[in-house]
Amino acid sequence: MSSANLVTIPRGRYLLDLESQLRTFADPPERLVLRCEEPDPARTPGWEQVLGPALVLRTTGATLSDPGLREALYFAVRELGTKELVVLLHSCCSHLSPGSGPDQEVREKGLPFMDRVYARMARAQGRLQAARNQVRTAIHTLADDPLLEQVDTVGLVQIVESGVMVAYDPERDAFEAVL
Ligand SMILES: [Zn+2]
Repeated sequence: MSSANLVTIPRGRYLLDLESQLRTFADPPERLVLRCEEPDPARTPGWEQVLGPALVLRTTGATLSDPGLREALYFAVRELGTKELVVLLHSCCSHLSPGSGPDQEVREKGLPFMDRVYARMARAQGRLQAARNQVRTAIHTLADDPLLEQVDTVGLVQIVESGVMVAYDPERDAFEAVL
């Protein structure tokens, strides 16, 4: 074999993550879940039970742009037999919602009670919208990647406030409840 045929695998964080997870499986699962690295909030749907065994990679806000992540996805598809990529976001993601941080909460403290309620509802709505936008963008980005064209993609948002999970349908460009 000539050296031109050798594949160099970058040893980034996400490949090390995959390697460490592979030790827990006799056969690599065909599903890989990309999700946020924030801890699971209480009252979230049990996505593990619904999806079954999966490799899991966690990035800030489940973004695809972290260095080394794309290489890890290619490696999973090429070498581990990954057939489905799931992008899973949560509606309370602090990485995706400008104007929902501590400053905003301090400003709201001075408001009358009902105004505070409305402000909180608007904040939850903004976070959910940001999570949906992020999932939509990720699914279209994956679909545009020629190295991933054999792979099925699924976009999910956990709506933490209600315990509902919604899935993105690229053909209708809409979300519908799945859980
Ligand atoms: Zn998050």
